[in-house]
Amino acid sequence: MCGICGYVGKNNGIGEVVGGLKILEYRGYDSCGVAYLDNEKINIVKTIGGVDNLSDLSKDINANIVIGHTRWATHGGVSEKNAHPHISSSKKLAMVHNGIIENYKELKEQLDANFYSETDSEVFLNLIDGEEGDLVEKTIKASKKVQGTFAIIVLSESGEVVLGKRESPLYLSKTAEGIFVASDVLALKGEYFYSLNDDEFVSIKNFQILFYNKNGEKIDKKQEKIEKNEVFSDIFCKSHMESEIFETKDALLKTLKKYKKDDVFSNIKLPKNLNSISLIACGTAYHASLMGAEFFKEAGFDARAYLASEFRYGRELLNKNTLYIFVSQSGETADTIASAKMVKSRKFYTLALTNTPNSLLNRICKNVLPTFAGREIAVASTKAYTCQIWSLYLFSLYLAGKKLPTENKISNIPFLNFDEPYIKEIAGFEKVFFIGRDLDYITAMEASLKLKEISYINSVAIASGELKHGTLALIDKDAVVIAICTQGKIKTKLLSNLEEIKARGGKVIVVSQFDDFKDFPCVKLPKYDELLMPIVSIIPLQFLALRICELFGYNPDKPRNLAKSVTVE
Ligand code: GLU
Repeated sequence: MCGICGYVGKNNGIGEVVGGLKILEYRGYDSCGVAYLDNEKINIVKTIGGVDNLSDLSKDINANIVIGHTRWATHGGVSEKNAHPHISSSKKLAMVHNGIIENYKELKEQLDANFYSETDSEVFLNLIDGEEGDLVEKTIKASKKVQGTFAIIVLSESGEVVLGKRESPLYLSKTAEGIFVASDVLALKGEYFYSLNDDEFVSIKNFQILFYNKNGEKIDKKQEKIEKNEVFSDIFCKSHMESEIFETKDALLKTLKKYKKDDVFSNIKLPKNLNSISLIACGTAYHASLMGAEFFKEAGFDARAYLASEFRYGRELLNKNTLYIFVSQSGETADTIASAKMVKSRKFYTLALTNTPNSLLNRICKNVLPTFAGREIAVASTKAYTCQIWSLYLFSLYLAGKKLPTENKISNIPFLNFDEPYIKEIAGFEKVFFIGRDLDYITAMEASLKLKEISYINSVAIASGELKHGTLALIDKDAVVIAICTQGKIKTKLLSNLEEIKARGGKVIVVSQFDDFKDFPCVKLPKYDELLMPIVSIIPLQFLALRICELFGYNPDKPRNLAKSVTVE
């Protein structure tokens, strides 16, 4: 996770790096810092909290070589000493690191250094410092001894900057103003960029960039065009999350238009005898994948969604007649990437469904199906989720040989808030359950995840039919059950479930377009195509999580313990 930035050039590097970190802050925000060179001496400024604190602390500094970091702590608590950049025992090197060094304990025991932090990163840095050779040689030698993942920028007191990466992303660009390094293309300046592959290294000395492979041999690399993810609207909202929910319709419309204009689906290379589709993803993207699997079944294919963290270590029999779709907003999700690499290495058909041009997942997979949701900054995904569902739905229509819908279909999509009085009421409960059947069960899972993520309420999603197999034991006057019903075929079944909950003293609130739930408080949804109701019904449920979060006074964009791009396992 975390954001890494570096700058070598004519401008004030503090402004460049702090500005870059601000853009990357969504990737980790528990602490941050910069290291800069001042007369061949490395100085460091670090602080707990966000980049604004760092900006205040460093505003009077002027330096041309600067590296910086926003942290998402994995090893060692959130403290100033654990914040990056770290400095080596000899004080000759400083480093920022994104990732996890799995064997740091063994390495720490072998090193003769005075450690001041609890991080794995400080161990890696001292390992580099202890190796023989110039800085690139040292870094390459040390990287052979570490197990795990890393994207690093190492700064030496002589002004050399060395980069390296394994599994975590790292990019750089060169303009007339200088050389920019970042863990996301978003924070680079210029029109073109270099992307580092695993176990490639870079030396930046006297404004010259040299690339090396893992054997220390010089290599050539080609630049690629920077395609920045569009920032959509400037709707005035209290949070990114709020504006991103409001941007849903634009995102769906733009995606449909692009698919039609570029004939996106016919460019996808499919197995000759395609008979099944597997979708692999994490978190919210997994819920979109569950939804996608239902659309593909509807189109006549055998389909199944997997959690990437399970799939990569599982026993699935891979198949040449299957299309493997990897879904990730950022295209950087570590478990999804590892799963894609595994399928790709067996030469089976892969497709990346991401919202991020230039992403790692796009590079790995044979095919790319982009969503055009625009940049999503809030950690809790909203418009990217609905766009993933939409994109999978459109793809399923294509595979079934059906025509794509007209733009009117989406322009008319109803948009709904969650009724105010219910929000306050739900916020008062300690136990919150979301229930549903079929597609609504998937929506229940996503609604429950949103509520947990940003309001920290302990909520659970249950398939309504499963209630009496255990969870009903928890239903009493302290429980509120939010029941989602958008699929006509399961209305009556759900009604019986609701009576059972009521009989045990539980509070029920229904979210539905049907008139059958008159005896219960109901958030009334507008009527729409049933297969697409998951897009309509999740919006008030996203608002529910957002409004409860605001009621409690939390920041919806930066929920505790979480970060936007999950680049660690
Ligand atoms: N493992 C390192 C730490 O805990 C880096 C974490 C990050 O990627 O932000 O400090």
